[in-house]
Amino acid sequence: MNANLDVVPMQEWINTGGKPLIIAGPCSAETEEQVLETANRIKAEGYAHIMRAGVWKPRTRPGSFEGMGEPALQWLAEAKKQTGLPLAIEVANPEHIELALKYGVDVLWIGARTTVNPFNVQDLADALKGVDIPVLVKNPVNPDLALWVGAFERLQGAGIKKLGAIHRGFSNAQETKYRNSPMWQMAVEMKRLFPQLPMIGDPSHMAGKRALLMELSQRILDLNYDGMIIETHRDPDKAWSDASQQVTPEVLGTMLRELEVRQANYGADFTDELAAMRAKIDNIDRELMEVLATRMAIVEKLGEYKRDKNVAVLQLDRWKAVHADRAKQASGLGLYTEFVEELFKLIHLESIRKQTEVMNASTTV
Ligand code: PEP
Ligand code: MN
Repeated sequence: MNANLDVVPMQEWINTGGKPLIIAGPCSAETEEQVLETANRIKAEGYAHIMRAGVWKPRTRPGSFEGMGEPALQWLAEAKKQTGLPLAIEVANPEHIELALKYGVDVLWIGARTTVNPFNVQDLADALKGVDIPVLVKNPVNPDLALWVGAFERLQGAGIKKLGAIHRGFSNAQETKYRNSPMWQMAVEMKRLFPQLPMIGDPSHMAGKRALLMELSQRILDLNYDGMIIETHRDPDKAWSDASQQVTPEVLGTMLRELEVRQANYGADFTDELAAMRAKIDNIDRELMEVLATRMAIVEKLGEYKRDKNVAVLQLDRWKAVHADRAKQASGLGLYTEFVEELFKLIHLESIRKQTEVMNASTTV
C-alpha cells in the first residue's frame, strides 16, 4: 500500500515522560457521582495521563444503554476540573464534535463501528477542518487495513496531524476466547506503514472479560505499543455497559504495576521486519489453536449426542469422506497433500480420543 501521513509526535500533545500513554476511565459516563468518583479514584492511583468515557454509545442492538449525551459532558468537565486529567471521548457525528469542543474535551476518538464507514468518517473530517485536536482512530470492526488507513487519510485531508491509532481487535465469525480477536499482524502492518503513528492498545475491548486483561496488556507492551486505553469503573459489576471487562481503578493500578515495560529494543519491535513476520506467525499459530479448540468443543458435543443416541464413536464412511474431501481442499489451496492427510489423521485421532472420553465419562456417572 502506498500511503503517507504527516504525524505530530505524541509527546508533543501529551507528555508521558517517555512512558506508555495510559488512557483510563469507564466504558460509559452513567451518573455524575459515578463519573466523579471514578475520576478521583483514577487520579489517586496516579497512572493515568488521560481520562476516557463514552458519552454516546454505539450499541449492537437497540434497547441497550445508549449513553447520557450532553449532561455527561458536564460531569466530565467537572471531573477534569477536580482531577486535572485531560478528557477523551468517542465522537460519531459532527454534532458530537461540536458538543465535545463546547465542553473542553481534549482528545477525540473514532469508534470501531464508525471507522468502517467512509461517509461517516468524511463527515467527521469535514467537521474537524480548522480544529486543532488530537484524534485517535480505532481499527474497523472487520480486519480491513485499507479502511483504517483511509480514515487517517481523510483526517489528514482535513489538516489533522495529532493522530493516533487504537488497536481494539476484530469481530469474530466464530466464537473464540476473545471478544475481538487481536490479529496482531494488522497493528504490526499499520506500524510498518506509518512508524511515526502512535499505536495504542485497547485490551478491554479485545478481552471482553477481566481474566484476559493482564495477558493482553503484557503482549501490547511486549510489542512496544505507545500506550493503552483501558476501561475502569468504580463498581465494575454494576456498569451499564461492558461490565465484564471493567476493573476498579485500584485493580487497574495493581495490574499496571505488575506489567513489565520492555526497553525499546526488547521483544518484537514493530519496526523490525523479522520481528514483524514472527509476530504474524505467532498470531497465526494462536489462531490455528483457537480454531482447533473450537473444533474440539464441537466434537465434544458430537460425542455427547452419539452417547445419548447410543451411536458408535467411529463411523468409517464418514471418516473416509472427510479424508477425501480435506485432501481435495488441500490441493486446491496449494498445500502439500500428504502433509494435510497426516495432519487430519492426527486431528481425527484426537477427536476419537475426545469422544471416547465423553462415552467413558457417562459410564462412571
Ligand atoms: C468503547 O471504547 O467503549 C467502544 C465503544 O469501543 P469500540 O468502538 O472499540 O467498540
Ligand atoms: Mn466499552
